[in-house]
Amino acid sequence: MCAVAGINPLLLVSKSRRPDVSTARCAAAYLLRELCALRLQEVGIFIGGVAQSAYGTGLRAYRSPGLVHWRTSSGFNVQQLARRAGVPRETISRIEHGRPAQVETIRLIADALLVAPSALVRDVELDHLSGEHYRVCRDCDALRPLRAYVRIKGSISGYYGRCKVCRARHEKAHYHTDARYRAIVVERSRRNQMQRKHESASTVNLAAGA
Ligand SMILES: [Zn+2]
Repeated sequence: MCAVAGINPLLLVSKSRRPDVSTARCAAAYLLRELCALRLQEVGIFIGGVAQSAYGTGLRAYRSPGLVHWRTSSGFNVQQLARRAGVPRETISRIEHGRPAQVETIRLIADALLVAPSALVRDVELDHLSGEHYRVCRDCDALRPLRAYVRIKGSISGYYGRCKVCRARHEKAHYHTDARYRAIVVERSRRNQMQRKHESASTVNLAAGA
């Protein structure tokens, strides 16, 4: 492939985004996948993590029947999701109307929704390629990246079982239905505010004394 494209093999496996390198990488990923019948994950081993984006430059597209569900359950309208994911609003609309999307677009949207790409396209190979670790939320059953969970204080690898989206929803419901809890939250925020005022005042005093 490199000989045909006239590029250094090391460039092919590098993170270079040069157009000729990307095209060669893309073609190599395609050949490995189609002719050698390798899975996307295995292609990634040969071409490195860049295979994902290389593969996403137009050779393969995915439909996302799950997008509407995940967008609405996250409480976003099309415009909000588009802004968060950094993709045009029309792209989101098109995918929701059944048009296929490139791997890179699916990845950006999955990132913005805090779900694994497989939640959107039902192809677990994309999860293997992303390099992230995922786990299922015990509340919403969604497969989400670890950054969607709160780490347990003092633990190296422990995370709470409920995702941040579910935690926020519970917190909100709790706040509105439980007057005692509401009083605790109000008091806590008042204390934090006082503390911040106190801290900034002592910084000013220190600066004035110096
Ligand atoms: Zn959840």
